Amino acid sequence: MVRSTRDGAVTSSSTHATRDTVVPGAGHVTPGMSAPLGEDRFRLAFQNAAVGMSIVSADGMYLDVNDAYCRIVGRSRQELLGHSSDVPTHPDDLAAAGRRRQQMKAGEIGPYVVEKRYILPDQQVVIGLLNVSPVHDVAGNLLYQTVHLQDITNQKLVENARHESEEQFRVLVEHAPAAIYRLELGLGGRFIYGGPLFQTMTGLSMHPRRPTLADFLARVHPDDFDRVAAADQSASHTARTFDIEYRLKSEDGAWIWVLNRAWPSRNADGMITSWLGVLLDTNEQHMLQETLRASESRFLSVFEAAGVGMALTTPDARITLTSPVLDRLLGYAPGALIGMPADNLVHPDDVAAQAPLRQQLATGEIGSFQAEQRCQRADGTSIWVEVTVTPIRDSDGGVLAVLAQVQDISARKEAEAALLASESRFRALVQNDPDVVAIVSPAREVTYISPSAREAFGWPLETWRHDFEYRMRYVHVEDRDGLRALYQQVHDRPGASAVTEARIRHADGGWRWFQWIMTNRVNTPGISGFLMNVRDITERKQAELATGAALAARQAAIEQLERMNQAKSRFLSTISHEFRTPLTAITGYSEYLTENAANPALVAEDAAIINREANRLNRMIGDLLFIDGIDAGRMSFNLRTVNLNDVVTLVARNIRPIVAAHELVLDLDPDLLPTMGDFDRLAQALTNLLGNAVKYSPDGGAITVTTANRQQSVVVSVRDEGIGIAAKDLDRIFDRFERVETGIAGRVAGTGLGLSIVREIVLLHGGDISVESEPGKGACFSISLPRLQHATMHDEEG
Ligand code: ADP
Repeated sequence: MVRSTRDGAVTSSSTHATRDTVVPGAGHVTPGMSAPLGEDRFRLAFQNAAVGMSIVSADGMYLDVNDAYCRIVGRSRQELLGHSSDVPTHPDDLAAAGRRRQQMKAGEIGPYVVEKRYILPDQQVVIGLLNVSPVHDVAGNLLYQTVHLQDITNQKLVENARHESEEQFRVLVEHAPAAIYRLELGLGGRFIYGGPLFQTMTGLSMHPRRPTLADFLARVHPDDFDRVAAADQSASHTARTFDIEYRLKSEDGAWIWVLNRAWPSRNADGMITSWLGVLLDTNEQHMLQETLRASESRFLSVFEAAGVGMALTTPDARITLTSPVLDRLLGYAPGALIGMPADNLVHPDDVAAQAPLRQQLATGEIGSFQAEQRCQRADGTSIWVEVTVTPIRDSDGGVLAVLAQVQDISARKEAEAALLASESRFRALVQNDPDVVAIVSPAREVTYISPSAREAFGWPLETWRHDFEYRMRYVHVEDRDGLRALYQQVHDRPGASAVTEARIRHADGGWRWFQWIMTNRVNTPGISGFLMNVRDITERKQAELATGAALAARQAAIEQLERMNQAKSRFLSTISHEFRTPLTAITGYSEYLTENAANPALVAEDAAIINREANRLNRMIGDLLFIDGIDAGRMSFNLRTVNLNDVVTLVARNIRPIVAAHELVLDLDPDLLPTMGDFDRLAQALTNLLGNAVKYSPDGGAITVTTANRQQSVVVSVRDEGIGIAAKDLDRIFDRFERVETGIAGRVAGTGLGLSIVREIVLLHGGDISVESEPGKGACFSISLPRLQHATMHDEEG
């Protein structure tokens, strides 16, 4: 029998009522009647049949129904008899039922089988399988139809369910991310089914010929072939499900990893006839695993080889893995720490300190934390470590494990403690040192200055917090460059030192000398700049300066003495020569005098010469005595109002005999103001100047004497046109016994006392003497004396 389709369309029927079946008519049957033979027997059979039966008129009215029919459609006989067979029919099937009735009546269809739905009074739907046969009269007209009704609701549900599940399986098989296959063992093994992915994964096509087991094995990776062949062998022996993972050459030629699982399938005799199998593409997973394995082994190698100790713990801090370094650090045998609560390793005093950090870690507030703590070692001692705790989280943020990195910092801690101790020692040293210690940053800011700066410089310490240029104001202007140079000298040379001395203006207004030693400590942690050591050297410096001055003074005195000594010995030789000249003349002429006694004219001449030379001697002795008198303070001055014009006039008259070869010019200011002085001494001074003018103008020339008033003084100057004086000699010619011994001047006789006498006289008058000269262009000596006001003069004269 071929089932109807689900929409209930008729397909065919063969086994039930035929055209000539005669069914008893309606109206002849009474319920409860005893069973007679013949028609009654049919009636009884009809009534009690297990199958629902009804007789329906050509117009579709119930002529008769049996109990089973009534039960199936959920209605009583009374409710059906004489009513349309449409009464119990499901509304959705009414149209089709009507159509069939028409066709049957018109003789267009014969007996048929159809599924039809009924709706019960309680709204339940019943699916019935109808077997309908027409009964005709001899003329071929439709008399009525006989209907056999079977309730196939349950069967239908099961069938639908099966159909659905089959469909589901089909969809599953075809869409599964696996290739499903069936390998038939007969004829050397042939794949009689391969799901859609089979070809993709194996590269084997199901058409036109089904692939063989040998075809399949040819696709297996050579490295995996032996394994696969062995598994195949063993599976045929044991006939058990097998699982094996290997590489296959896929359709696109690439090797892919597959997980192959297969189940034996047996025939009724228990013989294995085929294998059902799946090929699961595990390539990605495999790659992932490979990567994981690699990263895990990398992790492990890092874990084991790391210089710091490492431990993995469960989220509740139980140790699951330790690195050898950690074991060694804490003095445990390898693996001895596994299973131990990590907290057991923390020094009891440090547990509390970590609690808030762990809390923050747990809430996700921080990703990891780092702490310095003490760890308990196996032997009971403790060790300082820096521990970094990092939770390892899954993609949802749940903690999978906790990684702790543990670094031994005991050496650092010891060094720190030592540093602290030494630092406080050094601090004490620095702070109590009278020397100033300062640290200056590369930007030249003072980042530290010791308290001694307060005393040393006198200013509040804040003064030195100002910028470089501001600080420089306190440095002596002559020393600033030196101090700047200090920076330049060490600036780019870590470790280098430079030293200078510079003055600082102290708060008390005085200058203090300091020695500045600057060292480049840019690379020294804690300094990172320039270290300045400043020492007060004021006393030393003053002593040095004082000594220097004293030395210079002594040196000058010595030089002076030496010069005087030389001058004196020169003088002695000069004086002996100078004295000898007039004495020789006197001696000689006194002898002539005796010889020429008879000749009075010659006697007079000789006597005049003797007189002249004696006078010269006398003058020289006078000069010496004069100098000596000045030195001894025995010089007395006869002061009165003097007009220098008078002095000039007198001296010019007296000296005229010796200036015969020269032209003497007097340029006297008639309004010359008077001065206060000793007339004779002033005359003596002017005589010396005029004498020199004559002596040092060997070629003659004019000698001009000028007088003039000046602002505060009166001036008399003597100008000649002689040999002049070299610039280098201008200063010293006024000193005693100083002479110019070179050139023409050296050949002129003299004692070197003339100008020094002039200067002494002028100075004793409160005046001054100066000279202007150039070699070969003559000289001009000027004496200036304080002048007297008219009133004074009148008083004097009055
Ligand atoms: P002296 O006895 O040597 O002349 P002075 O003291 O009078 O001693 O002069 C010192 C030196 O000054 C002289 O030796 C001479 O060299 C120089 N001097 C003085 N007056 C003149 C002058 N008018 N022209 C050039 N040189 C002069």
